[in-house]
Amino acid sequence: MANEKEKIFTEELLKMYNEKCDRVLMPKEKLNIIISRFNILCESETIKRTRDDYNLLSRYEVLQIAGLEKLIRKRKTEEDPILYFVSLEETFDVIKKSHSALNHAGRDKMQKKLNKKNANVTLSAINLYKSMCEECQLRRKNPAKGVVVKPILSKEFNSRGQVDLIDMQSMPDGDFKFIMNYQDHLTKFGVIESLSSKRAAEVAYKLLTNVFLVFGAPHILQSDNGREFTANIILELKQLWPELVIVHGKPRHPQSQGSVERSNGDVHDMLVSWMRDNKTTKWATGIKFVQFQKNRHNHSGIKRSPYEAMFGCPPKVGLASSPIPT
Ligand SMILES: [Zn+2]
Repeated sequence: MANEKEKIFTEELLKMYNEKCDRVLMPKEKLNIIISRFNILCESETIKRTRDDYNLLSRYEVLQIAGLEKLIRKRKTEEDPILYFVSLEETFDVIKKSHSALNHAGRDKMQKKLNKKNANVTLSAINLYKSMCEECQLRRKNPAKGVVVKPILSKEFNSRGQVDLIDMQSMPDGDFKFIMNYQDHLTKFGVIESLSSKRAAEVAYKLLTNVFLVFGAPHILQSDNGREFTANIILELKQLWPELVIVHGKPRHPQSQGSVERSNGDVHDMLVSWMRDNKTTKWATGIKFVQFQKNRHNHSGIKRSPYEAMFGCPPKVGLASSPIPT
């Protein structure tokens, strides 16, 4: 799982960088640009220096270490400690090393240790790391002074999605024999599709065309149908959409377990009552009504409807939901 965590961690840092919340940690590419500009400025006395150049020279130094060029904080004297600028891509490993050396110490202890060697490991990066560390989360028996650190894995829409299959082979509707139930972990917004088989290629195609290319794709995909099932879907997805980077999660995320199991059972029950009300066995049509019904109804876990969680307003049913008299 370390790999998955590192990926999410680095993505979050990159997002902070791109959104200009935190520009202290920089991508490797940016560090290399600074290093080469520094070298150009040092090699040529005649080059015209801009204000940015002066800025750069007052902040940075480049050190040759074992044939590698390292960006460090500008030292006033040779005795000053060497503080390395860490790239955003290296941050996970740097923090991880000191975090295990300090046996899951608190944020301040970690910052102190990291600041002895590094110039730019930020508090937000340390906090992010700690919020993703399961051991640290377990140790937080009492949330200190009412501050609750939410695990980062479910912080936003499309962090984590769950796809499950419901077997309908005993009651096929035309070619359709399975139901695909997809749910976003945070908003509980769901998409339900009918399938003729449980082949990974078919599931991947439905996910791509009816979920991911409409709402975007999650970081993590998980399923109660097992790790192999998810892995195969991800392989198929990559064929269809090479740009997509997605990892598979633990089949049962402790937080989502109850919610998704209930969701699969709900879909089945709601479908049965839809068929009874409409005196039909055409469940492949019914599932789309069930989907809308589930998304528009209040969800106790999030205290609003999944639709509202997604779109910020209640769903409309054309004029039926307008105050204009019919
Ligand atoms: Zn920890």
